[in-house]
Amino acid sequence: MQVAVVTGPGAVELRDEPRPAAGPEDVLVAVDACGLCTMERRLFEGTKPIYPVAPGHEAAGRVIEVGEAVAPLPGTPGIGELVTMDLLTRCGTCHLCRRGRSALCKRPQGGALSDGTISMGAGLAEVVRVAAAQTYRVGEIPVEHAAMGEPLACVVHSVRLSGFRAGDRVAVIGAGYMGRLHLALCRAWGASQVGMIDVSGPRQTEAAEAGADWATAPDDTAGHYGAHDIVFVTAGTPGAVELALDLCDDAGAVVLYGAFPKDVTASVGADRVHHHELSIIGVFSQEPQDWRTAAGLLESGALSADLDRLVTARYGLAEVAEALTLATSEPVYRVMVG
Ligand SMILES: [Zn+2]
Ligand SMILES: [Zn+2]
Repeated sequence: MQVAVVTGPGAVELRDEPRPAAGPEDVLVAVDACGLCTMERRLFEGTKPIYPVAPGHEAAGRVIEVGEAVAPLPGTPGIGELVTMDLLTRCGTCHLCRRGRSALCKRPQGGALSDGTISMGAGLAEVVRVAAAQTYRVGEIPVEHAAMGEPLACVVHSVRLSGFRAGDRVAVIGAGYMGRLHLALCRAWGASQVGMIDVSGPRQTEAAEAGADWATAPDDTAGHYGAHDIVFVTAGTPGAVELALDLCDDAGAVVLYGAFPKDVTASVGADRVHHHELSIIGVFSQEPQDWRTAAGLLESGALSADLDRLVTARYGLAEVAEALTLATSEPVYRVMVG
């Protein structure tokens, strides 16, 4: 079978790899679509120079083989069923895994292809092997939506840890793909209003078309200060934390979702946090309960129109170089390969 390997900045090739054998607890999945996320873009751009590497962690497809130990279990997907897949490793034994915070598992992520090439998901491939427990049925939905299981699980994780409740007033800083998934999820879960903030005029327009109650630029937000219960920061830029705090009402929560440059700090008045009961919450990745929710949402179709708007382009595996070039050369939501 073929698997895409990034060998250097701007360089990707398809390699022949022995088809994996399903262990007794595994399933084999024929990949139908894999989204290109920030990690894939950074590897291809050269801003994360780890080579050679087999990326691709937002994969979905149909089950083609089921391990003998899990085959009789009712939660195991059957042959031909469409699944979305959690390709992270979770050791189950570290302190964070035992606390139920396996997004922060201490065990290093990743594995290797047969020749030792580092795997960061290796979902840009014809077939992947995954533990049956880390597959989630999604029913018969577009495969591009199924491939949004991982990012949607991350956003479910974010909204869950935020303490969000129906009726809350929400603002989202950053109207890229992750910001738009926050918009879609908060609307579906009963936010009374969701506003979007982005430097890009076209992204403001597209967020408004997708249902945002308002969309504006960061320097044009003063009219919205003090009026939100939850503010999600999906674009980690200098000043974003301070802006998010200004947008919060008393008892508001600021959720730091997007990665920040390592040297960015934020200045927060300690008494302001105390006196106004503000919260600043970091969120990272996702956990099994988030996957269960995300897969259920995908199957329900509740977000279908939102997800359709977020598929920028679709390529075959043989066109993975074109797909990575597009994803790294202009603003996109999700580019799908497979
Ligand atoms: Zn991702
Ligand atoms: Zn662990």
